Amino acid sequence: MEHFTTVVPGTRVRLDEIDPDFHEGLKKRDEVVKERTDAAREEMRELQSRLYAEGRQSLLIVLQAPDTGGKDGTIRHTFRGLNPSGCRVASFKVPTTEELAHDFLWRIHQQTPRRGEIVIFNRSHYEDVLVVRVHELVPEAVWRRRYNQINEFEELLADCGTRVLKLFLCISKEEQRERLQARLDNPEKHWKFSPGDLSERARWDDYMAAYEEALTECSTEVAPWQIIPANRKWYRNMIVAEIVAATLREMAPVYPEVDFDPGAIVIE
Ligand code: ADP
Repeated sequence: MEHFTTVVPGTRVRLDEIDPDFHEGLKKRDEVVKERTDAAREEMRELQSRLYAEGRQSLLIVLQAPDTGGKDGTIRHTFRGLNPSGCRVASFKVPTTEELAHDFLWRIHQQTPRRGEIVIFNRSHYEDVLVVRVHELVPEAVWRRRYNQINEFEELLADCGTRVLKLFLCISKEEQRERLQARLDNPEKHWKFSPGDLSERARWDDYMAAYEEALTECSTEVAPWQIIPANRKWYRNMIVAEIVAATLREMAPVYPEVDFDPGAIVIE
């Protein structure tokens, strides 16, 4: 069964054909949901340990979503139980003056994972064809060339042993309304709300058009986008854990061979 959508390179993404509410007819409290989530997490733990010990390949998880799309919650759940020594989150905010004085991939490249490591990008180089496009921060001729520049950058990473897993958390506009309202209703969530969120929400359609083009143009053989139905947080968390586990499984990290005979060593 198809639990999420892998964008096939060369096909045009239409987000209005994606159901952000999709959940396989499951219920949050179904035993199978707990079983699948726990099994995926356990597999991630085991494979991360191998990846770290092997020290040859790395995993980069690029996380993009509309505002309130659940990036922080996804990161919290996905990394739960992993060995913190081998994983890290890199968040990309409005570029600093120093960052703007360089090419758009400069700050990104500094944060890519070293061998053996898993890094999650909370926002990424894709902001440079999303918010930058919607707010016309650079001319179209500049952002349009970035699709190709991004593809070549990701190919370089792949050639050098970094698996690039790109996840788009897909929520509906109505779900965003509810999540913004929840931030207003709960004093402990007020800090998460900014009045600027409403002007961004007013540009929802522009953002969706920008996402559609980025997902279409930047789904390559080595780094296709995955579209995750994310209206239901428990379903999103389960699917993301399953995708990360499946990706690590494909990478097939192995514990390194040692060049001594452990059986022949006596510890006094
Ligand atoms: P988040 O929403 O990710 O939790 P913030 O509320 O600090 O964190 O938002 C980060 C902001 O940085 C977002 O509004 C995002 O659009 C902006 N941003 C990220 N990358 C860029 C970029 N390359 N150019 C302009 N703005 C960017």
